[in-house]
Amino acid sequence: MRPFVYESPSTPQQAVSRGSANSAFIAGGTTLIDLMKLEVMKPSRVVDLNPLELRGIDMLEDGLRIGALEKMSDVARHPQVAANYPVISQALLQSASAQIRNMASIGGNLLQRTRCGYFRDVNTPCNKREPGSGCPAIEGENRMHAILGTSESCVATHPSDLAVALVALDASIRLQNGTDERLIKLDDFYLLPGDTPDRENRLQPGELITEVRVPMLPWARKSAYLKIRDRESYEFALSSAALALDLDGDRIRDARIAVGGVGTRPWNLPKVREALLGKPLNQETFAAAARFAIEGAYPLTQNGFKIDLVQRTIVRALKDLGEVA
Ligand code: SF4
Repeated sequence: MRPFVYESPSTPQQAVSRGSANSAFIAGGTTLIDLMKLEVMKPSRVVDLNPLELRGIDMLEDGLRIGALEKMSDVARHPQVAANYPVISQALLQSASAQIRNMASIGGNLLQRTRCGYFRDVNTPCNKREPGSGCPAIEGENRMHAILGTSESCVATHPSDLAVALVALDASIRLQNGTDERLIKLDDFYLLPGDTPDRENRLQPGELITEVRVPMLPWARKSAYLKIRDRESYEFALSSAALALDLDGDRIRDARIAVGGVGTRPWNLPKVREALLGKPLNQETFAAAARFAIEGAYPLTQNGFKIDLVQRTIVRALKDLGEVA
C-alpha cells in the first residue's frame, strides 16, 4: 500500500473541502482498503467520514430517509425498513458476509467498485482502471459479466444488490459539495460505460453522498429481492430481481422491477412493468413480460446463459411474491 495522508474532519463541509480527484473518502473501508492494498486505488489523502453525523433511519411523511453512514446490517434489521420496504432488507441481507455488513456503510455500498477480476489485477490491462489500456474480459473470463449496457470498452457488472432495490423503488440520493446540495435519482446517477468506463457515476471530485431517500410507496410492503448466485453466502449475483407488486385481487394494478448481475449498472425495467399492468397473475403474464428484460442484450463468450437466467429470475420472483403456484 502506498503512503497517504489521513484526515478526520468534523463537518461535511470540512470533508468536502478536503476532497479532490486524488483523495478518497473512507467509511466502512470494506472496498477502499482492499483496493489500496492491491494498488488499484492510490489516493494521496484518505478522509475519514466516521466522525460526521450522517446517520439516522427515519420514516418521514414522504418516505424513508437513510443516513449515508448507516451500516448495512443496521438498515437491514431496522423494523420500519423490514416492514415497509422488505426488498431493501432482503437485498442487504443477501449481500456480502455478516462481517462486511456490520462494517460497510450504505453510501459506500452504492459506490463500491466492480468485482471484475481484471480490474483488481494491476498486472492486466483494464479500461476502467487504466483508460485506453484495453478490456481483456471481452475475449477472456466473462462468465460473471454483463449482457446489458455493455460497450467495446467495458463489460463489467455493477456489484451492488442494494442499488438494484433502490432503483426499483425510484429512490434518490442527496449529494453535498461545499455548501451546495442536490438530490438525484439513483437511476440517473449511474452511467453506462461507453468510451469512459472509468467514470461510473455523476459524483464530482470531493462530492459526498449524505443520505438516501426512498419515496413513500405503501404497497412496497409487498416487495422482495431474489438473488441467484453460485453459492449462498458472500457471492455476487449471476442474476437478481428487485420487485414490488400492487395487486387488485388476482390482477396487477402496479409494479416496480429492476434487475442486477446482468447490467453495467442497476437495470431498471419500465417495459417489463408496463407489460404487467392490468394483467392477471399467472405464468403466461410473467413469461411474456420477462421477455422485455433482454431487449438489447449482448451475450459474451461465457455468459450467454444469462439471457435465459434473468428471465427465469424475474418469473420466479413474480411467482413467489404473487403466490402463484
Ligand atoms: Fe476492466 Fe471493465 Fe474490461 Fe473488466 S470489463 S477488464 S473492469 S474494462
